[in-house]
Amino acid sequence: MLEVTPGALERLKTIKAFALDMDGTVYLGLRVLPGSHDFVKLCQENHIPFAMLTNNSSRSRKEYAKKLDTMGLHVGEEGVMTSGEATIRYLHRVHPGKKVYLVATPSYEQEVIEGRVNLAKGRDDADLTVLSFDTTLTFQKLVVLCDIVRDGKPYIATHPDFNCPVDGGYIPDVGSFMALIKASTGREADEVIGKPGKMMVAALCERWDLPAEKIAYVGDRLYTDIAMAESSGMLGILVLSGETKLQDLETSEHQPDLVIRGLDELVELLGAGL
Ligand SMILES: [Mg+2]
Repeated sequence: MLEVTPGALERLKTIKAFALDMDGTVYLGLRVLPGSHDFVKLCQENHIPFAMLTNNSSRSRKEYAKKLDTMGLHVGEEGVMTSGEATIRYLHRVHPGKKVYLVATPSYEQEVIEGRVNLAKGRDDADLTVLSFDTTLTFQKLVVLCDIVRDGKPYIATHPDFNCPVDGGYIPDVGSFMALIKASTGREADEVIGKPGKMMVAALCERWDLPAEKIAYVGDRLYTDIAMAESSGMLGILVLSGETKLQDLETSEHQPDLVIRGLDELVELLGAGL
């Protein structure tokens, strides 16, 4: 364990909820990392709220919970926060009651409907448009979305990733769609919700009714995970179980508050302090 910010270990004792990156933190590919099961158990036994975060808005929270279930991580829907959920919360906060033309997979569309967001049928009745990671995207949906963007209406994207890693390579993600929309309409999205943006953190604060200072964020990437913790005021905990090596800290503009080897070490620290 390395305490980068003096007092970070003391601050860890005041933390009320944990948000976690998934790949490189909770699991690596298909392998669950040491400490993940124990971390979930410790939080559940001590009633500490936690959520595993993903920018992938092609799947609903329910589906993510199922995926984690197959890894023996029984976290339930409340143990997951997607950029999709953060977007639903954002829509209620910033565009309440407005009609949304949604570009989405059927499962995320279902989550949006269950989240009581009004959906528009097309260009004529849309107040704004939301672009999510639609792996069922059609040319027709793209045409309607671009029309609404050209009409000057608010245009929201669920997250900024250009590619989504899959078995054997990558598939184009929302960031790539945004580049296409920019080329066609000349407009960038008015708001991009997911990591490392502020709206993902706002969604966590809203869900738990906590200020960012009382939330710790655990992740393996300096330029996304730790950047988000730093800019929002969450306690930033870097794990070395993913893509970052200790020596990367020397040249990084983003600095965590604490560095640990992995979730197993966080369990040890929390176990000693509880
Ligand atoms: Mg990661």
